[in-house]
Amino acid sequence: MKRMLVALMLVLSLACSAFAASADVVVVGGGGAGLLAAIAAAEGGADVILLEKMPFLGGATLICGAVTTAAGPRLQLEAGITEDSAELFFLDLMIGGEFTNDARLTWLMAEQGGAVMDWMEDLGVAFDSEPVNWAEHRVPRSFRWTGGGAALIKSLHEAALAKGVEILLNTRATRLVQENGRVTGVVAVGKDGAEQVFSADAVILATGGFGADMDMRPESLRSVLYYGPVSSTGDGHKMAAEAGADLVFMDKMKVYPHGVEIAPGRAQLTTISSVPLVSFGAIMVNSNGERVIDETLDIVSLKNKTLEQPDTQLFIVFDSAMKAKLDAMGLAMVFNYTEEQIEELIAQPGRIARHDDLAAAAAELGIDPEGLAATVKAYNEAVAAGYDSAFGRKDLAAPISQPPYYVMEQKLRTATSLGGVRVTTDMRVLDKEGKVIPGLWAAGELIGAAHGNESMPGVATTWAFVSGRIAGLSAVSK
Ligand SMILES: Cc1cc2nc3c(=O)[nH]c(=O)nc-3n(C[C@H](O)[C@H](O)[C@H](O)COP(=O)(O)OP(=O)(O)OC[C@H]3O[C@@H](n4cnc5c(N)ncnc54)[C@H](O)[C@@H]3O)c2cc1C
Repeated sequence: MKRMLVALMLVLSLACSAFAASADVVVVGGGGAGLLAAIAAAEGGADVILLEKMPFLGGATLICGAVTTAAGPRLQLEAGITEDSAELFFLDLMIGGEFTNDARLTWLMAEQGGAVMDWMEDLGVAFDSEPVNWAEHRVPRSFRWTGGGAALIKSLHEAALAKGVEILLNTRATRLVQENGRVTGVVAVGKDGAEQVFSADAVILATGGFGADMDMRPESLRSVLYYGPVSSTGDGHKMAAEAGADLVFMDKMKVYPHGVEIAPGRAQLTTISSVPLVSFGAIMVNSNGERVIDETLDIVSLKNKTLEQPDTQLFIVFDSAMKAKLDAMGLAMVFNYTEEQIEELIAQPGRIARHDDLAAAAAELGIDPEGLAATVKAYNEAVAAGYDSAFGRKDLAAPISQPPYYVMEQKLRTATSLGGVRVTTDMRVLDKEGKVIPGLWAAGELIGAAHGNESMPGVATTWAFVSGRIAGLSAVSK
């Protein structure tokens, strides 16, 4: 009888005990930062397990605008741009961050971005050879990923598998295991709801941002449209905070002026089309139909001007000749949308208007038609004269004169958070006293202060990649 009882207890305890595994390094999160951390650690000789809560890899990296910025990658030199340097990139990043950046981290991004892009090419990632121009960057140094986020994640996934990284999807980390202050592993929940314990010498949190968690968003940004992934729920922020981490810049998120509201509270970005459209001659107006700014200025200036409008939105106005140029570049008017989806948006009144009559296009979006007519007339005269007396815009590429005319709403949107854990220059997480939490590293959007108050276009992925690689290398060497 006693023997039967012991056997029964053994069976019960085995059934109740959590699945357990161990590795040298456990990476939590399979976006750009986590994948590069895992690959770097595996290249350094570590056994690596990567946990991803979604049924697929990628996070924000998968759906992002697919542009990365760096000084001195091979591609920039091959494009004939030789006047860039880490120092110039650093200066632009500090200006972009309003000099609130943690300069130690910003310098890492400026100094290592080029080498990390080269390494990624060696891992199989393809970038377009033609750099993208932004007003914020003094030289062209941003490169599109060929095939977008899906192609990049596929290449990194394959590289990780080739280096022996074990990837577990549908596995959500819920808390860190800590013994005498040292992080020794992670508890996660699998698809079946069962808890699993992963022990490791080093845990790297790379869980992305917190934009999808309304409670974590600063109050002033709760009404701004969201355009990020559902996975950005700040899990790593919460787990790290429970382990004693110091969180900084938690009231900061990146806000962009270029959004179309595709569903209530939800935006899709148009920066990738709005910036080139302006370079072809498009203007931006408010609901009175008035221009309010030199449209070629940087994104933060456009955002601030949008915030000044009573309805906090602007509208971009262009003609069919400009639309044809966009098509020729292979760029969709709304990022990641097919022509059919864009036609559906045009068919719904009030988001994107296309009409032969400019007044009808204005009226559809609630813009004063007479105001817009006067503005377009004055703008076309400025183009003919080669001088914009209203705002001093230098690049007056073409008049708005070829119907059908397009008017697209430009609402504020947010997704990328700028706040997170404080780290050393090798991405070890610090506690509130500035001491390293042994066993714990971080990478990517989860880290605070790398960009400061603001972030420049195309550098959030640079930070994800650079910090991911550093975290992976450092986790192996400790
Ligand atoms: C639409 C959009 C466009 C953008 N465009 C650009 C651009 O063109 N250039 C640029 O530089 N930046 C851009 N950004 C910002 C940039 O994409 C992100 O900052 C960057 O990709 C973040 O990388 P990450 O690896 O830190 O996080 P993510 O890529 O978000 O990866 C985090 C991963 O962790 C997983 N995860 C989260 N919690 C857990 C958990 N508890 N357990 C297990 N897994 C978990 C998530 O599911 C996700 O896969 C854009 C962002 C968006 C949303």
